[in-house]
Amino acid sequence: MATEKETKKIDSRIPEGPVAEKWTNYKAHQRLVNPKNKLKLDVIVVGTGLAGASAAASLGEMGFNVLNFCIQDSPRRAHSIAAQGGINAAKNYQNDGDSVYRLFYDTVKGGDYRAREANVYRLAEVSNNIIDQCVAQGVPFAREYGGMLANRSFGGAQVSRTFYAKGQTGQQLLLGAYSSLSAQVQAGKVKLFTRYEMEDVVIVDGRARGIIAKNLVTGKLERFSANAVVIATGGYGNAYFLSTNAMGCNCTAAVQCYRKGAYMANPSYVQIHPTCIPVHGDKQSKLTLMSESLRNDGRIWVPKKLEDAKKLQEGTLQGWEIPEEDRDYYLERRYPAFGNLVPRDVASRAAKERCDKGFGVNNTGLAVFLDFSESINRLGLDAMKQRYGNLFDMYEEITDVYPGDLANEINGVKYYKPMMIYPAIHYTMGGVWVDYELQTSIPGLFAIGECNFSDHGANRLGASALMQGLADGYFVLPYTIQNYLADQAIWPRISTDLPEFEAAEKAVDDELTRLLNIKGKRSVDSIHKELGHIMWEYVGMGRTAEGLKTGIQKMKELQKEFDTNLFVPGSKEGLNVELDKAIHLRDFFTMGELVAHDALSRNESCGGHFREEYQTEEGEAKRDDENYFYVGCWEYQGADKDPELIKEPLEYEAIKVQTRNYKN
Ligand SMILES: Cc1cc2nc3c(=O)[nH]c(=O)nc-3n(C[C@H](O)[C@H](O)[C@H](O)COP(=O)(O)OP(=O)(O)OC[C@H]3O[C@@H](n4cnc5c(N)ncnc54)[C@H](O)[C@@H]3O)c2cc1C
Repeated sequence: MATEKETKKIDSRIPEGPVAEKWTNYKAHQRLVNPKNKLKLDVIVVGTGLAGASAAASLGEMGFNVLNFCIQDSPRRAHSIAAQGGINAAKNYQNDGDSVYRLFYDTVKGGDYRAREANVYRLAEVSNNIIDQCVAQGVPFAREYGGMLANRSFGGAQVSRTFYAKGQTGQQLLLGAYSSLSAQVQAGKVKLFTRYEMEDVVIVDGRARGIIAKNLVTGKLERFSANAVVIATGGYGNAYFLSTNAMGCNCTAAVQCYRKGAYMANPSYVQIHPTCIPVHGDKQSKLTLMSESLRNDGRIWVPKKLEDAKKLQEGTLQGWEIPEEDRDYYLERRYPAFGNLVPRDVASRAAKERCDKGFGVNNTGLAVFLDFSESINRLGLDAMKQRYGNLFDMYEEITDVYPGDLANEINGVKYYKPMMIYPAIHYTMGGVWVDYELQTSIPGLFAIGECNFSDHGANRLGASALMQGLADGYFVLPYTIQNYLADQAIWPRISTDLPEFEAAEKAVDDELTRLLNIKGKRSVDSIHKELGHIMWEYVGMGRTAEGLKTGIQKMKELQKEFDTNLFVPGSKEGLNVELDKAIHLRDFFTMGELVAHDALSRNESCGGHFREEYQTEEGEAKRDDENYFYVGCWEYQGADKDPELIKEPLEYEAIKVQTRNYKN
């Protein structure tokens, strides 16, 4: 079992002073790179999602030479385009009492008091700059009739602070970032490498000095050197096989950095999103999110009577045949103050609780209703279409049910067809450990966006991932990386002929050969699916010490199967998608075990990490601040050894740590 390393100390480099002044002070005293030296400095940015594209564009504009990599054929295809609902900012356009402090407070509380206070305050501060930046780029945010930018509400907040572009916010923001990136490509400051996958980070004299990347079209391995490396490679949700993430999402870059010495922080903090289209068969390889924004107008319910639920499961009764008085709007009942807009972890657990008790509404018993009848009756279908048109269409395309179709009228009340939803893996709050400067435990290696652990604690509030990714890329990293680069101009360009590059490339090549030579009988997907089942069953929404130990054991056995019975067709040369997937799966195993180790070591429930042994009588998460008020950082010890835990204690000065309350 994993061990703890109490002796090692972590320096998170949080500046001195009150939380509200730390970022201003940091900027005031920061070492900047002399403009002439910027021309001599190269920075590798891996990833072109919102975090990577914004960072690459900003660094290019500042004068650095940027090498920007992605696995897709265009930066515009990064997973970030999937983001639907919106992006938070403390603009207070609605004049409903919002402020930087309030966004900061909501985010820390939403994260169940497991985030780093200083980082979150900075995030809330720069949130407003992001909106200005994106509007200047031409991002078509929704507007009120009078021209002001419109807002809606997301979970865990009682103000309206989410900026959106229909249900396509991520796509529109990415187009904005992409236009800035393209301008820098045109100016010669950013060189794009599409269809390239980072396979390893190269460390020279203890510093990150480059990467080994595979040209995914030719299969050739190539070496790239730079003065600093930034990874912006997204989350590890696909370790669970079924998730709302894009199929290509993987954690290979992050896990390779971990193997080279970067700590992985809080891996057990995985977000399970309450409003996804339920699993409908075992041939599925992807789940679809229905944006949280729908909870602004949709009401979540299951029948009050078990006999009604049974009939729904048998298909002899339809949701719209159940009258108002027989519906249990359980979130509104349990959490009157926040109702349907409780944070995701709370809403997901409440859905599971109802379904576990037999109230599920589809044939598998694993679904609840999301119903727009009340809003359509009050505001009209057109208003709903304006807000969520593309989400309604998407739901219809997948399920053949249009949520705006009138289905029944009981006692003068019109009932429309509801959506069916169930929780699914969606986002990973854990990730590569970074200090206040977004630097990992390897000097010269930075991590931004979803792939780091930085700002969301044990649970991320809706519309905060885009905020964090763009904060990191546009406004934080461009400052903090200079503190590191300020010294770097004295170094001559690092040659990729150094033995460290040679050794790293050879190790990657050997690994590709090993995977191709296993020549077993099982496809990558069949093993990945089995890993996903283990993860969901033992390391999913409800965890126990016993289950986690079983999960780790089962993962180890399955990994043996992977190492001895995998079949990868084709060769190293040219395009080989199966080979690429095999590498990703190798790393999902490492990540999966880390999630389980972290979950096992954390004998408490907090946010997305729910240990069934630690809950209140009402089934709420029970934290243990006395023993677990820290960031859990894991250090790699070798392929056959369990990782070691190092703790970064959390320090709060502005916010009183208390039990989360969404009831009143
Ligand atoms: C369906 C869905 C809806 C969402 N809606 C919202 C929302 O409304 N609001 C919100 O705030 N958040 C939302 N999120 C979360 C948010 O979209 C993501 O957290 C965020 O976009 C991640 O951005 P990123 O730049 O960190 O990573 P990604 O967008 O995942 O980009 C990763 C980049 O890294 C590259 N890459 C990965 N591995 C390698 C490698 N080894 N070598 C080279 N390149 C590599 C990829 O090519 C890609 O360019 C949603 C998520 C999903 C799944």
